[in-house]
Amino acid sequence: MEGWKDFGLVFSDEAMVFVQKREAALLSTYKRMEDTALYNQGKVFSAFSQLGIGAGNLFGSTGYGYDDRGRELLEQLFALSLGAEDALVRPHIASGTHAIYMTLRGLLRPGDTLYYITGRPYDTLYKAIGIVPEDGSLMDYGIDYKEEALVDGLHLNWERICHALEEDKSIKVVAVQRSRGYGDRAPIMIGEMAEIFGKVRAIRPDVKIFVDNCYGEFCEKKEPTGVGAHVMAGSLIKNPGGGIAPTGGYIVGEKESIQRIEGALTVPGVGREIGSYENSYRPYYQGLFLAPSVVLNALKTATLFGSCFSELGYEVSPLPFDVRGDIIQAITFGNREDLLLFCQMIQRHSPIDAMAVPIPWEMPGYVDEVVMAAGTFVGGASIELSADGPMREPYTAYLQGGLTYEHGKLCCIAAVDAMMKKG
Ligand SMILES: *Cc1c(COP(=O)(O)O)cnc(C)c1O
Repeated sequence: MEGWKDFGLVFSDEAMVFVQKREAALLSTYKRMEDTALYNQGKVFSAFSQLGIGAGNLFGSTGYGYDDRGRELLEQLFALSLGAEDALVRPHIASGTHAIYMTLRGLLRPGDTLYYITGRPYDTLYKAIGIVPEDGSLMDYGIDYKEEALVDGLHLNWERICHALEEDKSIKVVAVQRSRGYGDRAPIMIGEMAEIFGKVRAIRPDVKIFVDNCYGEFCEKKEPTGVGAHVMAGSLIKNPGGGIAPTGGYIVGEKESIQRIEGALTVPGVGREIGSYENSYRPYYQGLFLAPSVVLNALKTATLFGSCFSELGYEVSPLPFDVRGDIIQAITFGNREDLLLFCQMIQRHSPIDAMAVPIPWEMPGYVDEVVMAAGTFVGGASIELSADGPMREPYTAYLQGGLTYEHGKLCCIAAVDAMMKKG
């Protein structure tokens, strides 16, 4: 630790010792995470060799992109790595929300009901679904929506879910948001998904189970499609892009569901057959390859922050020793100033745009103003160390990502230092 001052990092010894001490208590927790990462690395790496990915497959195409072999193999690679039959993986999917919206558009028809069983979904979906009225939303197209709140913000309300499925035959998609998002709730663990998906399938074989998998990829040994979900979707500038993918989204699942979604991806009747990308697909392949290890770094970083800020007296979720189902660490500051200071410390110690000072602003798709620290190589990539929070009670920062644990740890020391100095 000697010599940091030489390159301008000035943390108090007190903050450094504090963080080192917390870290020492986390080694067995880290060990468990490393075990999961090893398993997932094996899964991804063997998918590469099973498909026989060669150097010639990394290149893109132009124009319509018919017979784009790099794209086709990338989709098969995602399917195999995430334990599913089929996949759509595209740079043209502009975000996670876009992937989710497309999935729902593909699966639902007018008169059908979308049933979210993990309470209110992620903010950017309010208008896409029509929970907040919007021209052209799913509800505007005659799709009904209902939701079931979690019990105590923790578990699915089994009884009510089963009852609704028996009573309401218009329910055609049961949706689960795996991660907490900007919510005051726990992630849904794969074990719990396996149980509820079995039940849903038994009661209503005609219903499709969809999982918003954002932030959950590679946190556990299985993915939702491995335990009964028909389809799941997410963003490539989060976990499965490994910090390398420059943009994009994925949709992974059983063949039948993917076929229904293809039309919403491009044009009904054309589907997945078109879509070119002139730049190389190399960052997508490489990103998926790196993802299990990058997710490990993010999980360890989140755990260290959770442990340190809990020790400083803030409310944190999950708790340091909890088993994690997503890469998010929520830290509740209780006031606007501390939340802002925290996000500003993360920004100041970022590789890119460290000189920028984050201030709250209205973001498209979000209901409240949001403050966002994201000094990232890929714009807004939240698999890179980033922190954000909606400007509302109880002023919670959601910290996620960390390409390297070492960078995560340095930021943690810096943030702890700032909080200690502030008193
Ligand atoms: C990030 C996220 C989304 C939306 O992804 P964007 O890429 O930001 O559009 C949806 N659901 C959850 C749980 C997320 O974390």
